[in-house]
Amino acid sequence: MNVTPEKASGVYLWDNKGQKYLDLYGGHAVISIGHSHPHYVRRISEQLHKIGFYSNSVQIPLQNEMASKLGALSGYESYNLFLCNSGAEANENALKLASFETGKPGVIAFHGAFHGRTSGAVAITDNKKIVAPFNSGHKVFFEALGDLEAVEQRLKGGEIAAVIIEGIQGVNGIQVAGAEFLTGLSTLTKKYGAKLILDEVQSGYGRTGKFFAHQWAEALSPDLITIAKGMGNGFPIGGVLIHPDIEAKYGLLGTTFGGNHLACAAGLAVLEVLEEEKLMNNAHTMGEFLMGALKDEFPEIPSIRGKGLMIGFDLTEEAAGYRSELISNHHIFTGSAASKNTIRILPPLCVKQEELQLFLKSLREVIISRKTN
Ligand code: PLP
Repeated sequence: MNVTPEKASGVYLWDNKGQKYLDLYGGHAVISIGHSHPHYVRRISEQLHKIGFYSNSVQIPLQNEMASKLGALSGYESYNLFLCNSGAEANENALKLASFETGKPGVIAFHGAFHGRTSGAVAITDNKKIVAPFNSGHKVFFEALGDLEAVEQRLKGGEIAAVIIEGIQGVNGIQVAGAEFLTGLSTLTKKYGAKLILDEVQSGYGRTGKFFAHQWAEALSPDLITIAKGMGNGFPIGGVLIHPDIEAKYGLLGTTFGGNHLACAAGLAVLEVLEEEKLMNNAHTMGEFLMGALKDEFPEIPSIRGKGLMIGFDLTEEAAGYRSELISNHHIFTGSAASKNTIRILPPLCVKQEELQLFLKSLREVIISRKTN
């Protein structure tokens, strides 16, 4: 996008010429509680005046505070928390833990998956263009989303440490795995002694209306859950929630920056605002509204999918021109995806109905203008 934002507040951005934009992309699903939320700004600033960083060689009670708050809000109170700095790093550590625990090297991932760009994370990402020869030594098997039989066949081979799946595939254009498939993976990984990793980097932190997208499936307790993006509302922070059955062993994982004072202050501010402003409820209601309105008002768009404020749909031609027109003529940001025809909607979770209505009206105008030109 040829825009240079200089200022932001809530769901809006202003560029270097003073033009205001509505942000329905959230900087790639990162902005959860809204840009420059006053509580977030205050908490980070106050922390910076006290102490911004010290390594994990000292006690940092803010980490415990954040782990407790995260446990309470997500419903994963009994899980341990490892803190790091990004989504790729969270997945890298989850893969390592699964491999340490099982003593096995293999990983099953899914067609269309995106898990990050570091060595292991990119190896389990289904995009050959971003996998360098250096990254290709890992034992990875890609199966089709929904194909439990293929997963079971691989698990029978006995070399699989983990099955990793996104709560909802994001980069692949919002593909929802479905509750039955997730529950099936949970049963199969337990049966064959592999670990189930839920990558909630994009779909977590309230975006779908529940804390994690996989919580739309009943009674699922993944072995590992990876988090980042919305966790810091822009501050680089990531983490791995670890099932209590996986024993914490001193020195197994480590990090210099992970869990520093400033990152914890940012993470706590996000959790406090999520709770205080009931943003998960808002994500659910606004998501239902937008999905319903898109289906009612755009019958010519058949493939509207997603959950809460993680929505994707395919146009009949490449979406780039539509997205450009939405930016230049209507001043609205939207997201792209791996498939060129897809538009992705990932707004801050505080978005209001009137803002979504403005998007619907603008989308209609863009469709008409592109038909007539
Ligand atoms: N996992 C998923 C599902 C993602 O969408 C992304 C980023 O888009 C990542 C992992 C990687 O996160 P990061 O860019 O913070 O390393």
